[in-house]
Order: sequence, then C-alpha cells, then structure tokens
Amino acid sequence: MEMRKIDLTHKDMSKLPVIEVGYGLASAYDDGIEINRKLTGELRERILKHERSHGIGRYNKKDFKTDFQAKNSNFFKSALFAMYNPEALIGFFPFMYSYHYKIMTFNWSSLVPFLFFGGIFSIFFWALFKINMLKSFFSFGVILVLINIGLLLYTHIKVKKEKRISKIL
Ligand SMILES: [Zn+2]
Repeated sequence: MEMRKIDLTHKDMSKLPVIEVGYGLASAYDDGIEINRKLTGELRERILKHERSHGIGRYNKKDFKTDFQAKNSNFFKSALFAMYNPEALIGFFPFMYSYHYKIMTFNWSSLVPFLFFGGIFSIFFWALFKINMLKSFFSFGVILVLINIGLLLYTHIKVKKEKRISKIL
C-alpha cells in the first residue's frame, strides 16, 4: 500500500487547507484535510478541530490517544450522519481511497471499535453455539473486509458520477 511521504515543512496543522470531497467523514493528510462536503455546522467544526489535533506524519500512539479521548468523540453524531449519507460509511472502515490525493489509505483508528465488536461477536457465538472463538473472530474479519470492499465500490461509483471530485477551500 502506498503511503504518503512525510513533509515536515507543513508542521502547523492549523494552516492546513480544507478539501471538500464527496465521500467519507474526514481524514488528515500531510498537506490538507479532506472532509465530506455535506458535513455542516457544529459537527463539521468539531470534526475539523479533531483532525487538526492530529500531528504530522504516520499514525502513532499520540494519534491513537487523540482518537479515543472521550471529549473528542464525535462518533455517534458521525454515525447518525453516515446513516443518512451512506457514502460517509467508508470513513468508519480500515481501507479508504482518497480521490483527491489518489492514494489508498489505512484508517488505524477504525481498528479499535472493530476489535471490540469482533470480540463481542466471537463471545456471543461461543456462548450460544460453542463455536471456536478464533474462527468466529476470523469470520468477523472476513465479513468486515467484504463490507469494506462493497463500500469502496459504492463510493467509487458515486464519485465517478459527480463532476467535481474535490474543492480546496
Ligand atoms: Zn482522528
């Protein structure tokens, strides 16, 4: 998977331009923050503030902490937004494609909720049907990847239909 090169000339996250796109929720890159153009008002501001709180460079422990601090949690409002705007769902999954930067990205922050749900899923099938937990967990992972691929296709079709892929603010 291609990773963006780290460009340390853009250390100040507050100066990163906002790039409106037609998919996902929001993702921080070294030289811009992509955000779903349908996000408006308070949620948009909160999500942008959160993205700016991430440091430059590869995803690390500090980013991980940032993502799971309760005060930064926009999770439920974002999930509600994604229910009405299914192209945003991909933002909760590990594999994403940026049509602005033309790269595949890996969303580390999506792993913790999925590990959590995978654990619950496995315990549930073990308790009810005595199914091997590792097998259940593996199946959960396979289902997750299949849904992720489905969402990649869905957003791909949607983006290709739209004339404007991204707009730098
Ligand atoms: Zn984050």
